[in-house]
Amino acid sequence: MEPQARFFGGNAEAGIRCTLCPHCCGIPDGGFGVCGVRGNGNGKGVIPFYGLVTALALDPIEKKPLFHFRPGSSILSIGFAGCNLRCPFCQNWNIARVPDACAGGVSVPGRRMTPVEVVSTARHNDSKAIAYTYSEPLVHAEFLLDCMSLAHGHGIANVLVTNGCIGTEAAGEILSLADAANIDLKCFSPTTYAQVLGGTLVETDGKEAGLLKAVLAFIRLAHAKNVHVEVTTLVVPGMNDSAVELDACADFIMSLNDPGIPWHLSAYHPGYLWKAPATDPGFLLGAKERAEKKRRFVYAGNIPGEENNTLCPCCDTLLLRRSGYRTEMVGLAEPASGEAFYRCAGCGGGTGIVC
Ligand code: SF4
Ligand code: SF4
Repeated sequence: MEPQARFFGGNAEAGIRCTLCPHCCGIPDGGFGVCGVRGNGNGKGVIPFYGLVTALALDPIEKKPLFHFRPGSSILSIGFAGCNLRCPFCQNWNIARVPDACAGGVSVPGRRMTPVEVVSTARHNDSKAIAYTYSEPLVHAEFLLDCMSLAHGHGIANVLVTNGCIGTEAAGEILSLADAANIDLKCFSPTTYAQVLGGTLVETDGKEAGLLKAVLAFIRLAHAKNVHVEVTTLVVPGMNDSAVELDACADFIMSLNDPGIPWHLSAYHPGYLWKAPATDPGFLLGAKERAEKKRRFVYAGNIPGEENNTLCPCCDTLLLRRSGYRTEMVGLAEPASGEAFYRCAGCGGGTGIVC
């Protein structure tokens, strides 16, 4: 059966409109929106990339990164083509930027899978969770909804690794089926989101305009729906590495009133169109230290040798020892019956770490 395209509505000046994300692309007949995967076929919304899986692997969950959700477990990870942002430092640009890749003679790799095949693959590999990850899964909302619903029917958890740029209608539906999410907060400037990260929408309704506004709303909604949330900020020299910018990100996360939300500050490495030198490890560790004055759980990513251990927020007992993607559960006690979170083996207090 042909997959049903949703989230298209209304006419644009020369074509139809996709309403899935804040770009609200007007798409002419035969064309595609900014993401390169949602288009107009004879005046109707089409999703020819439905189920085209470009990457599939069994990953340590720490690689997503998720540090406080089922630590030490493996997760079936699937990725797709296309993305609704155009980050100039994208490490997956040949998959994320479908039109650029095709223009450069790169064909998009992949194999067509049904939701049934994805869920069977997870079960066959004894994976209790599926991550929708690598480039931007949300632009494949229809496939995600089909897959996530089926996964839940088999007791498999759903994990989103996403830029969070999506409209409220789809966000509500997808987050209702999500158990955990690592969401990018790439900066706190609407101008940077619009101009550097490739958005085409610049609103003037205050500081949370356009794409940034959608990301903040997505993070808030995920948290409000009791999805386990972790936030990632790739620290890119010259783009978002000022103290003011990083403090604004930290303050936003604090505004969710949940000290248990981990914040991953990750080092950038040159790639695609962005050639500035990599983030200095010393700078990143300094940013982490500064953030720790505001937040309990801050981790520094993409720095070889950085331990990133987790200590109990109450008594400083070592709970999780990490080495690369290897995690040892050294100070976690099983939860009391009916509880979803590990307890600290030292003081017996709650850890907020999902088991
Ligand atoms: S998902 Fe966003 S970028 Fe893609 S076609 Fe729809 S509105 Fe445009
Ligand atoms: S959001 Fe991620 S996948 Fe999309 S362009 Fe940016 S870095 Fe690449």
